[in-house]
Amino acid sequence: MADLLPWDRDGLDREDRFHEECGIFAIHRHGDAAAHTILGLHALQHRGQEAAGVVSFDGRHFHSHRAIGLIGDTFSKRWVVDSLPGHAAIGHTRYATTGATALRNVQPLFADMAFGGFALAHNGNLTNAQRLRHRLVEQGSLFQSTTDTEVLVHLIARSKKTTLVKRLVDALDQVEGAWSLVALFDDGIVAVRDPLGVRPLVMGELDGATIFASETCALDILGAAFVRDVEPGEMVVVDGRGVHSSHPFKSRPRRFCIFEYVYFARPDSVVEGRGVYEVRKRIGAELAREAPAEADLVVPVPDSGVPAAIGYAQASGLPFELGIIRNHYVGRTFIEPTDSIRHLGVKLKHNANPATLGGKRVVLVDDSIVRGTTSTKIVAMVRNAGAREVHMRIASPPTTHSCFYGVDTPERSKLLAARHNLEEMARIIGVDSLAFLSIDGLYRAVGEPARMGEARAFCDACFTGDYPTRLVDHDQGETGAQMSVLLEEAGR
Ligand code: AMP
Repeated sequence: MADLLPWDRDGLDREDRFHEECGIFAIHRHGDAAAHTILGLHALQHRGQEAAGVVSFDGRHFHSHRAIGLIGDTFSKRWVVDSLPGHAAIGHTRYATTGATALRNVQPLFADMAFGGFALAHNGNLTNAQRLRHRLVEQGSLFQSTTDTEVLVHLIARSKKTTLVKRLVDALDQVEGAWSLVALFDDGIVAVRDPLGVRPLVMGELDGATIFASETCALDILGAAFVRDVEPGEMVVVDGRGVHSSHPFKSRPRRFCIFEYVYFARPDSVVEGRGVYEVRKRIGAELAREAPAEADLVVPVPDSGVPAAIGYAQASGLPFELGIIRNHYVGRTFIEPTDSIRHLGVKLKHNANPATLGGKRVVLVDDSIVRGTTSTKIVAMVRNAGAREVHMRIASPPTTHSCFYGVDTPERSKLLAARHNLEEMARIIGVDSLAFLSIDGLYRAVGEPARMGEARAFCDACFTGDYPTRLVDHDQGETGAQMSVLLEEAGR
């Protein structure tokens, strides 16, 4: 899900802020549904760290709690769990925007509809939501939030179909982009994934209860069994009569997000049949083969560079050392709103160890370079700690394009690799040598040929610019016109 307005109503420029990433969770037929949802969201915290929400259903009423902050801080209190009774619940964790608009954008969204209550949690991003929202507003819809996800709520409310599930399909037929969704209604829960299957969604089982979660690590925390991935384009409805699967959408070649393997998913998750940790180690090994370095040590930028650095060290035969220590009591620097704070954030988060690095030629491994802010600071830190040479190795291809499918990336002009060639990037970051994994190397590590027939096997648009859907809202001419309408609205 993402925010649609180009800046908050308080006037803060959000062009340089981030789209949201999210984790979603649902459980049906469990006596302790809310507590399990909260634990599941805790395991999915890496997918969104600024806000979370849970909606439960007790057979008569819906209950909801939404809060800004980490799950452990905001949902661990007994009274919160007690305020969410019921046998079914869904939850969502997200990066939120700051300011007055924050809480109303926290999911699950909830609406009382003609057919009853309905809660919705979304991971992904709808690429034609601005256009749809504009049309809906013209037709009289009153939006409560600025998220793309709310467009779905209005489309469902306006649908002429007779059942909730048919209305949901009708709404989803009108949207484009990436959507893994879980929904809660008075008869059960629904889990659904877009036909490309861009974002993950898995099904699990615990003591007869059915669970859906963004990643398997949310099942592991509960001791739940992994059943299977929800398939691209599949809708699974779980109600009193059982589990019903259907494929109501036009089928398309699958395009799972390859960046989930590079950075986003937790290393202990199994995503689309592949262990993320294993893939990341293979990525490191490919990188060592493609871009060897004359060096003494391999050092990861923790935590995200660790598995790839292990793979690099194993394949190259160089010793692996933790030359940078991470302070785990701060959030990801990436979510900080301004450059100045982000710079400070890197120092808060990492410290280089002179005892390990002094006088050494270091291969420094990180998963990706986005703006280059992190790398520049880390390299300076490693040099200050006495490293003699720094050879930066990046465990993904250059990030040259923004993501419009729910991964947090800045606009294209802020991407280092969109503006500079390799030599320039090496100079800016301050390294003796710089190399990125090739796109073919990435596919080899994942274990797929880059193409399945005509289409690419994954969504790798952030590296190739090959977007698997139309980007209706981001088309230049249109965006300008729509933005002015939205801005007018925002100013009212
Ligand atoms: P930058 O400083 O902008 O180059 O950010 C790159 C760093 O951010 C890398 O160390 C990654 O581990 C991390 N990163 C990459 N993509 C994301 C993302 N979508 N959200 C949060 N962090 C990210």
